[in-house]
Amino acid sequence: MSKQPTIVVTGAGGFIGGHLVADFRRQGVRNIRAVDIKPLDEWYQVFSDVENHAGPADGDARDFRLCRRFCKGATDVYQLAADMGGMGFIENNKALCMLSVLTNTHMLLASQEAGAERFFFSSSACVYNAEKQLDPNVTALAEADAYPALPEDGYGWEKLFSERMCRHFREDFGIQTRVARFHNVYGPHGTWCGGREKAPAAICRKVIAAKASGDHSIEIWGDGTQTRSFMYIDDCVQGIQKITHSEILEPINLGSSELVTINQLVDIAEDIAGIRLERRYKLDAPRGVAGRNSDNTKIRGYLGWEPSTRLRDGIAATYRWIEGEFRKDYTPEAAKQLATSGFSHGSKPIPGDGYMKESRHMDTWKQGISSGYGEA
Ligand code: NAD
Repeated sequence: MSKQPTIVVTGAGGFIGGHLVADFRRQGVRNIRAVDIKPLDEWYQVFSDVENHAGPADGDARDFRLCRRFCKGATDVYQLAADMGGMGFIENNKALCMLSVLTNTHMLLASQEAGAERFFFSSSACVYNAEKQLDPNVTALAEADAYPALPEDGYGWEKLFSERMCRHFREDFGIQTRVARFHNVYGPHGTWCGGREKAPAAICRKVIAAKASGDHSIEIWGDGTQTRSFMYIDDCVQGIQKITHSEILEPINLGSSELVTINQLVDIAEDIAGIRLERRYKLDAPRGVAGRNSDNTKIRGYLGWEPSTRLRDGIAATYRWIEGEFRKDYTPEAAKQLATSGFSHGSKPIPGDGYMKESRHMDTWKQGISSGYGEA
């Protein structure tokens, strides 16, 4: 009889981690450890038949001693914990995003020490070279486009570093690390307000708020022409497991290749709501790169599979879930607040105040590595 796997999922109180735990349960996996620094009552999905490690004292994956406890006897480790959010969050909390290097390092080390067979790391499309994303009519990003390195400042640099750490742990210590670069994941049971939410959830919420309040207008970050692809959560959960149990050694794209503008995303949400809204473009808001899409040639080649949920279907399910959450605490005042998005600098950096207005404008911090780097 083959050995029952013992699966560890960090970031299990968050969006993707919560869905991953739910899926393992559906498959009948009995030994699951779910880890998250958030208190249990803030997790999106909680299962009482799972070994839950929650809160700063028991669920902090920055703490190496705790990581050793999470990983003891583990066969498969899914490292999803990260201090992150949408563009408004990552552009304004770079130090905090880079501190995820502690969770990635300590979980990798503890997994290797415990003799885990497989280690999955959730990287991001934010590792891609910014100079290859200046045009909204973007050519889809292939895996090689991460180099020469000029990733999203803060968040992207940390992901790129941790990708390489996974590679070197595999090469030097033999732990089977696998890395996927997620492209914008969305779906129910994720962040939909508060400043860390991403575009699909923010747009659904704003449309719902506009409909509820009777103020039929919507604020859009940027001019709405920026392009993206969005992957539905079910595809993400399936892809994570396929990649973890594959022989794909290099970091690989896990994303949808259905490209839309932010304006088209708003069209879809409006169609679902059965409403048309006046659009107000907030041109000074964080908007990220001009265009980004996932080139799925490699994943199709390796797995004969790629994310395929239609954006319209995934947004319909997401819209319905957010509408339910919105209605739970509905007041006209709340609807007004939820009609816009906010972001703050240096959200609870640990330790101390990680954001300095002055250093933000110093040229040395803006310099990346030029695109000619490494050429003879
Ligand atoms: P999420 O914020 O919903 O979940 C991340 C969870 O990690 C949170 O619940 C948070 O409390 C937890 N966490 C943070 N610091 C921790 C710590 N020190 N110890 C334990 N838990 C900690 O985000 P998500 O969308 O579920 O993302 C999961 C992973 O996928 C992250 O690594 C993220 O960078 C990556 N990713 C997500 C997307 C996306 O579109 N959602 C895109 C690219 C990459």
